[in-house]
Amino acid sequence: MTWTDRAPRSDLDPARAETPILRVRDLQVAYGDARALFGVSFDVPAGSVTTVLGANGAGKSSLAAAIGGVVPPSAGTVEFDGHDVTGVPSHQMSRMGVSFVPESRNIFPHLTVRDNLRAQIRFTVPRSDRGAALERAMDLFPVLRERSRQNAGTLSGGEQQMLSLARVLAAPPKLLIADEMSLGLAPKMVDLVFESLQRIRDEGVTVLLIEQFVERALGFADEAVILRHGLVGWQGHAREAGTELLAEYLGGESASTL
Ligand code: ATP
Repeated sequence: MTWTDRAPRSDLDPARAETPILRVRDLQVAYGDARALFGVSFDVPAGSVTTVLGANGAGKSSLAAAIGGVVPPSAGTVEFDGHDVTGVPSHQMSRMGVSFVPESRNIFPHLTVRDNLRAQIRFTVPRSDRGAALERAMDLFPVLRERSRQNAGTLSGGEQQMLSLARVLAAPPKLLIADEMSLGLAPKMVDLVFESLQRIRDEGVTVLLIEQFVERALGFADEAVILRHGLVGWQGHAREAGTELLAEYLGGESASTL
């Protein structure tokens, strides 16, 4: 199946979809003199999956990091759930219900799997709910239960990515920002990542998905934003992003992932 022959998605509650949970306006990011985003604006409807695509260096990770509070924007605004959260640091964003899973796996390699989960849960979940959150994380990824006493650094790349995601999903966020979660994973592990994303989508979590597998991302998402050279080149319903458009914005380099 290709992105063009997918059935239109009809499971998004229209009432919720009208309300953006995230509004990004004229967002700019610079690293010293090097500018990565030049004024990016888009909305993410509540309960949707919105994918951000673009060729290498288009600014996808910078956008994710600026929304997640990891990189301070140099201009523009980010509004989440009706609040201006521009420049709010990631630990505060996480308490407000925004979880950022970065491209690099954010685990502690010298702690056990269980302690990695506990460290995150302690930070985001009230004491009385922590046991249930730990169970939930291990139910989502049974392999983590099997390896719970193992140091996280000894897990395979795929398992480390599972752990990174499980840490976030132990307490479901309102918005999950997933930056290239399937990078470097074996196909079976990529399937597992998408299965777990589907599970949290079913729970009503809004997802901002940055993904190298363009076809897969468009097949999964409701909305798409295509970045080019730090600007929005195209945005619309994911199902409307056709081959020509993708070739224009993503170029030959990304065609291999279609
Ligand atoms: P990729 O798919 O290769 O990860 P991307 O679309 O995520 O690319 P970014 O990583 O956001 O793009 O990079 C956007 C621009 O910002 C690029 O020109 C990149 O070289 C630059 N850039 C990113 N991070 C830094 C940094 N820490 N310091 C300086 N420049 C950076």
